[in-house]
Amino acid sequence: MATPSQKIPATLIPGDGIGPEVTEATLEILEAVGAPFEWERCKAGMAGVDACGDPLPPETLASIRRTRLALKGPLTTPIGGGYRSSNVRLREEFQLYANLRPARTLIPGGRFEDIDIVLVRENLEGLYVGFEHYVPIGDDPRAVAMASGVNTRAGSRRICEFAFDYAAKNGRKKVTLVHKANVLKALTGLFLEAGRDIAKKYEGRVAVDDRIIDACAMQLVMNPWQFDVIVTTNLFGDILSDLNAGLVGGLGMAPAGNIGTDAAIFEAVHGSAPDIAGKGLANPLALLLSSAMMLDHVGHQDKARRIRKAVDIALREDNVRTGDLGGKATTKQFTQAVVKRL
Ligand code: NAD
Repeated sequence: MATPSQKIPATLIPGDGIGPEVTEATLEILEAVGAPFEWERCKAGMAGVDACGDPLPPETLASIRRTRLALKGPLTTPIGGGYRSSNVRLREEFQLYANLRPARTLIPGGRFEDIDIVLVRENLEGLYVGFEHYVPIGDDPRAVAMASGVNTRAGSRRICEFAFDYAAKNGRKKVTLVHKANVLKALTGLFLEAGRDIAKKYEGRVAVDDRIIDACAMQLVMNPWQFDVIVTTNLFGDILSDLNAGLVGGLGMAPAGNIGTDAAIFEAVHGSAPDIAGKGLANPLALLLSSAMMLDHVGHQDKARRIRKAVDIALREDNVRTGDLGGKATTKQFTQAVVKRL
């Protein structure tokens, strides 16, 4: 168990485009709150390609293998050259089975007020395992496309256990299991069965209910306040996490954690925003809120809470906002406003 003054080694990937700017802003706020991270700075994305011809250089992987903890800025995906997505490679390499995506209203006056939903998405299985092929018929080599999904009982139990454990530890009241077991009876029936079984262990502490994915999508738009923590399989989670981000104003401010048994990578959901890179205009909120999730993850919830509170005051009371939120503040001005409120 780390004592409060103990340093925690962590890998820092500033990334491309606006990545270095939002990283500097985040570091300044982490410093001000007394975050205990000892950073190993590494390259990835175009910065990795420029340095050594690989968007995910071996030194970066070696650093994460050592630290088991990383904060990652957005990476520009190199076009052509047959590169695989660095994000998918990282997920597979470190078996980051849980994708944690909170969506919370930050700015009042949007389409929905007071949203606070946490989505837990299974990150390694389901229809995203990539078992796809074509079947030729006659002279059409791609007459039929086929894909197989793979959900395991062990993987389903692991992600549901993660969601219930997260709910129990974070004062959340309910977990909703989202599935399509009426049609995909085996693939998502197994997930539902595993979820209901795990729920029994949390009886009296965390409530459980379940929804079919299509009904859930409608209800998230009609009455999102009924949801607390949602856990679901890979493809449904991919879609619903963006839906939830839409409820609170889009992907621009969305943080995320990719968490495995012995490694975790926290990242901004947005891309490298080449149109505004280097201009000092980027909103650092997504990476900053990702770093707050990272503080939660290593047991420094008090510091994470202070950051979230300072952000709320800077946005709501001081009205300091970057251009993407309709304000006039630069990255630096917004950073200063948060530091002042810590
Ligand atoms: P993007 O998210 O970079 O930009 C979309 C729009 O949102 C742009 O107008 C941009 O200026 C704005 N925006 C994004 N983040 C912002 C911020 N923090 N502050 C203010 N405005 C912000 O998406 P894109 O243009 O489709 O992609 C650009 C590059 O990023 C591509 O190479 C793409 O592959 C990559 N990308 C990486 C990730 C990742 O690493 N997780 C995610 C998405 C896209």
